[in-house]
Amino acid sequence: MTKSQRHKAIVRRRIFVSICAVILAAVILLIAFAVKAIVSGGEKDNTPSDVSSAQSEVLSEVSSEESSVPSYPETGPNGLDANYSKLLLVNGKNPLPGDYDYEGNLTTIPDEYINGSLKQVDKDVWPYMKAMIDAAWADGVKLYVWSPYRSYATQEMLFKNKVNRCIQNGTPEDKAEAEAATVVARPGTSEHHTGLAADFNMANDKFESTEMFKWMQEHAEDYGFIMRYSGEKQEITGVIHESWHYRFVGINSAKEINRLDMCLEEYVEYLSRH
Ligand SMILES: [Zn+2]
Repeated sequence: MTKSQRHKAIVRRRIFVSICAVILAAVILLIAFAVKAIVSGGEKDNTPSDVSSAQSEVLSEVSSEESSVPSYPETGPNGLDANYSKLLLVNGKNPLPGDYDYEGNLTTIPDEYINGSLKQVDKDVWPYMKAMIDAAWADGVKLYVWSPYRSYATQEMLFKNKVNRCIQNGTPEDKAEAEAATVVARPGTSEHHTGLAADFNMANDKFESTEMFKWMQEHAEDYGFIMRYSGEKQEITGVIHESWHYRFVGINSAKEINRLDMCLEEYVEYLSRH
């Protein structure tokens, strides 16, 4: 082999080695891209990469159960629009806005449906409430509206009375308002101001042992109402268990809230995430 032939052989070997190195680098890059694509695909499920596959299966089951909303009918009893909803959140932390129209959207409930002195309710909600009471009556259950819409002034009077009773019962004056607020909402923070809520028959614990309560447990959601304050959710709502207080949210919304076992605070938050 001449010197130049040897030189050519060395050059050819170097070219061959270089080509091999380029191919190897390309394969490594391809593998790296593929792994990255698989990992980032998994992250779309919001599954933390450090949970075991068994845990992530459970997580994905829970989230698919939450998100797979059953297909509810468009129409409720009496042809009521089942998709109509009112999710306005009013509580101690979310008082009604200062410019809220307290009176503008109210209608007067006919006397035969009332067993208290207050008579007004949101006019768009009344057809649902009427249909519910009519259905209860048809089942022989004597459901009546006890306390629907309350003005700011009425709520202020109820709240002051409650504060005074707390003080009479031995609560220190500086703690009486906070204690009263767990039972009677501060003016401006009561759902009753909205005309979307009502107490039925009576506003006390005896309601829970009545046939009216039993009927409402079974049927209130069919007319768009939820039992708004359950003892289990007191930490979130800030209100004690009230078996007599029902809030209109809409038929399909009520069914969803009950299916998810949420209170309105949780449901509003849940909707903001979905
Ligand atoms: Zn109430």
